[in-house]
Amino acid sequence: MSAQKTFYATTAIAYVNAPPHMGHALEFILTDAICRYHRMMGDATYFLTGTDEHGVKIYNTAKKAQMDIQAFVDQHAQTFKDLTSILHLSNDGFVRTSDRELHWPACQKLWGKLVEKGDIYEKEYEGLYCEGCETFMLERDLVDGLCPIHKRELTLIKEKNYFFKLSRYSDQIGQLIESDQLKITPSTRKAEILNMIKEGLHDVSFSRPKSALPWGVDVPGDPDQVMYVWCDALTNYISFIGYAHETELFQTFWPADLHVIGKDIVRFHAGIWIGMLLAAGVPIPKGILVHGF
Ligand SMILES: [Zn+2]
Repeated sequence: MSAQKTFYATTAIAYVNAPPHMGHALEFILTDAICRYHRMMGDATYFLTGTDEHGVKIYNTAKKAQMDIQAFVDQHAQTFKDLTSILHLSNDGFVRTSDRELHWPACQKLWGKLVEKGDIYEKEYEGLYCEGCETFMLERDLVDGLCPIHKRELTLIKEKNYFFKLSRYSDQIGQLIESDQLKITPSTRKAEILNMIKEGLHDVSFSRPKSALPWGVDVPGDPDQVMYVWCDALTNYISFIGYAHETELFQTFWPADLHVIGKDIVRFHAGIWIGMLLAAGVPIPKGILVHGF
């Protein structure tokens, strides 16, 4: 066996609800430059980007446009694929979360691991939900009672959810970041996330009833529930390279060397994603590079 070094970098996956903007180009080109450098250095390099195609916002937009939902996301994913050619990106893979061959089985396998570990539980959830952010928010996150990003009122939602016991991994995640086993660059972002983790990470809502979200990955063993964004979107980093069947590609390139992301999603990547991998017994990525907008 040759001892060739490997390098695996990812961008965040683009949400297909809206057309590409400069922020996507920034992140794609940044990641592309890093990957090209590693190829020049002789490393076996894999560069993954792609699209996030589930969620209530996409479902509603497709309905409003009176389009078949799969046709809608196919069309919008193509816009982002076109962007990779326009920008001459050297990406090796393009993951789509509506893909049922590689992506869905990986999400369902990961979910199963979390269940085996005893880290998924059922709970009645009541919370304030921002449809723009597709996330529940706490009172303290609001500004004048509105979502600080979308400046709109939140909806009070009461429903059955599965939860992931992220709180169990709070200390461990903190130590991994503190010691740079998960290296967060720049260090200002590292300090930020460590401060957040010091307060303790909370368990996270991990599913939605199909009645509220008919468009997403089915929860194994519960036909009435669909995976919420975490176990769906974040799993793209391992799904496309073959986590479901632990393919050679997966074994060669995972753990990723670098997730390149924007500053607004650090806590999801450094918190929830790492907790999921720890719970599932999957190695964690080596680094996260955070850019501004
Ligand atoms: Zn919002």
